[in-house]
This record gives sequence, structure tokens and C-alpha cells, in this order.
Amino acid sequence: MVALNEKEKEYLLSKIRDVYDFPKPGIIYKDITTLLNDKKAFNFLIEHLTKRYENLDFEFITGIESRGFIFAGALAAKLNKAFVPIRKPKKLPYTTISEKYSLEYGVDEIEIHIDAFSTSTQNPPKALLIDDLIATGGTASAAVKLLGKINVECVEACFLINLKFLKGDIQIAKTTPVYSVLEVF
Ligand code: AMP
Repeated sequence: MVALNEKEKEYLLSKIRDVYDFPKPGIIYKDITTLLNDKKAFNFLIEHLTKRYENLDFEFITGIESRGFIFAGALAAKLNKAFVPIRKPKKLPYTTISEKYSLEYGVDEIEIHIDAFSTSTQNPPKALLIDDLIATGGTASAAVKLLGKINVECVEACFLINLKFLKGDIQIAKTTPVYSVLEVF
């Protein structure tokens, strides 16, 4: 499957804004709104993901709240796939199943609608997972587990940015292919 060359990666990276000490001191926040605000860069990214995934066999694109929705939604429309949201607790209105995961302090949880894959013609249903960024990998690992709980095969976990130094991808890669458009070392 296709990946970007170094020049293309530099181009997209140059569109992402680093915001220092947000949301707390010591964090360099990767602000993707500057990329989304640039129609050429946003389109370039979606075209790249389209090329990467147009020949892969799956029916659903699951996006993780909230920035994952932007890329997952755009790509789902482009590739004629169904979109499935994975959300924070108490946001989804129908019956959900959930998965808890550890944070630096405390726990968090994500949810999915129990019937989100009921229209599948595949057994098991196959889904691509998308989020904007992988840091420690806690959120994405929980998302892969959540899909497994309802017997959905995650064909690949895809991120725009991988904060490589946090090694969040390593745990997920044991069970699921991982693709990051951009890596930050
Ligand atoms: P994690 O579960 O640690 O992999 O964190 C991933 C989630 O937190 C993603 O949904 C990101 O949007 C967000 N996130 C974590 N660190 C950053 C960062 N440095 N810049 C932007 N978003 C971040």
C-alpha cells in the first residue's frame, strides 16, 4: 500500500501547528486545524488516504472522537464506506458497549453503538480505524479491543501523526497493522 515520500511528509508536517504548553505545561500540542484550514493540504491528505485504502477489503471506517471523525468521515464519503463513530461516554444515544483504558491519572472510556456493524455483508465485519494522532496508544488500543468485543476485524489502525517517542504504536502493532502518515521523533 502507498505511503508518502519524504518531501510530501515535510509538506504536510509544515501545515501542522505546534502549540507549546497546551493543554498543560510541557505538552507540545499538534494542532491540525491549520492543515484542515488549507484546502490544498487537506485535499492532498484525503487523496493520499484514498489511494492507500481504495483496494483494501473492508466495509466500515470507524473514527475516534473527535478529530478522528474529520478524516474518517471525509474518507468514508470518498471511498463509499459506512462511517462508525467511537465516542466518549454518554454521547451515543442508543445501546452501547464500552471499553475502559488507563490514563496518566485515572481511567477513561470509549463507546460504540452495539448495532453499528449490523449492515455488514462480511463475517466478521471489517473496519478501518482512524484517529488524528497516536500518543501513548491508550485510546487506539481500547478502540481495537472494543471492535474485537463485537467481533469486528480492524484491518488497519491509521493515524495522521504518530508521536514515535511515546511508542504507543508498538502495543497495537502486535495484533493490528498500524499506519501513520507522519511520524514525529
Ligand atoms: P493516547 O491515547 O495517549 O494515544 O492519546 C491520543 C489522543 O489524545 C488522540 O485522540 C489525540 O487527539 C490526543 N492527543 C494526545 N497527545 C496529543 C498532542 N501532543 N497533540 C494533539 N493531540 C494529542
